[in-house]
Amino acid sequence: MSQSLQALDRAHHLHPFTDFKALGEEGSRIIEHAEGVYIFDAAGNRILDGMAGLWCVNLGYGREELVTAAAEQMRRLPYYNNFFKTTHPPAVKLAEKLCALAPAHLNHIFFTGSGSEANDTVLRMVRRYWTLKGKPQKHWVIGRENGYHGSTVAGMSLGGMAPMHEQGGPCVPGITHVRQPYWFDEGRPEGQDPEAFGRECAAAIEARILELGEENVAAFIAEPVQGAGGAIIPPASYWPAVKAVLAKYDILLVIDEVICGFGRLGEWFGSAHFDLAPDLVPIAKGLSSGYLPIGGVLVGDRVADTLVEEGGEFFHGFTYSGHPVCAAVALKNLQLMEAEGVVERVRDELGPYLASRWTTLADHPLVGEARTLGLMGALELIDPVSGERFDKALAAGTLCRDISFRRGQVMRSVGDTMIIAPPLVITREQIDDLVTLAREALDETA
Ligand code: PLP
Repeated sequence: MSQSLQALDRAHHLHPFTDFKALGEEGSRIIEHAEGVYIFDAAGNRILDGMAGLWCVNLGYGREELVTAAAEQMRRLPYYNNFFKTTHPPAVKLAEKLCALAPAHLNHIFFTGSGSEANDTVLRMVRRYWTLKGKPQKHWVIGRENGYHGSTVAGMSLGGMAPMHEQGGPCVPGITHVRQPYWFDEGRPEGQDPEAFGRECAAAIEARILELGEENVAAFIAEPVQGAGGAIIPPASYWPAVKAVLAKYDILLVIDEVICGFGRLGEWFGSAHFDLAPDLVPIAKGLSSGYLPIGGVLVGDRVADTLVEEGGEFFHGFTYSGHPVCAAVALKNLQLMEAEGVVERVRDELGPYLASRWTTLADHPLVGEARTLGLMGALELIDPVSGERFDKALAAGTLCRDISFRRGQVMRSVGDTMIIAPPLVITREQIDDLVTLAREALDETA
């Protein structure tokens, strides 16, 4: 069965972010079912999903309550839209729930089908806002090198992934990128103190603002912790310094919570961990624990008041904005997370426990740094002889990722950075297994 599926897959299916030709004879792994924190492949292997799918299955697999919420909503109202002057109960109830969970100044949500669509929406809202404020020239958006904000043209342009820009054709004009606060990669080799490096990265934003002219800069967009770029936790000095720069020049703050939202960092929103007060907050992934596709942009009062009071019709929206079945599942997901204290457990118990266990891997000769925040972690692989990063061509990270998968655990590799972001319902014993399996994969890679 799986053989023929693999052949059909190779013949017809173009996978996202995949060198399809490189799949070769071995073909794709067929994942057939899942339960709790485990996925099961067609050969019957049980694999600990250290990545919660793609950083999204926060409540874990096999939650019947979510299946029931979807089925009930599908029977009652499988589809209707929120365009013009119609809506439906799941969209309204989810909007109310999200605004109740979010910081007090975020009282509106614009629904989308994904994180990428959320960031497209951000770009349009930011520019619309400043036009309505009588400052249409204030249109530049500053993002960060190696940041990830999605794969649509606007998402790719806001993100700072050079290979995406090279393949994607011209980016959306009026978007620029500044240095990322990646201490291990950029600060440490230059021999800086991490906190001085954090301040220097914030200063790079100010320098770019002055270069562009403060009257021309609309917004700064960033993830609280860069996820896809390599689980990059900024030095403590970074965010306070960034906040001060943006306040000085009256520039909107967009915090992309697509990964960090919904408990990943031990708070409902990652921005709470860093004491940020963002104007716009794109969300997706953990919002529905990945059971159905849904995203959105939480809009702060400053922007919402202007859009509502002065904006007239906003010519923007998606057929599946606030899809009733996706919204019903997202609402149930948030209710379950709340009732089960999932976020608090990450903050008080599982996050600290993962930190205590994951950092033991720092003694491995292949590891230059082991870091975590909440239930996100990374290992920086280094050449045990030189103590420096590997020559990129050696692809130690890819090797380690493949070995890990074969040994029964999903770890992601970004270059030579190994990443984990397990479901938030993982147990201490499963965290022990995760760390043991990671060490075994490192041993075999070395
Ligand atoms: N923003 C961030 C921070 C992400 O990590 C992602 C996806 O990984 C996106 C946006 C894009 O979300 P989606 O894949 O749902 O379009």
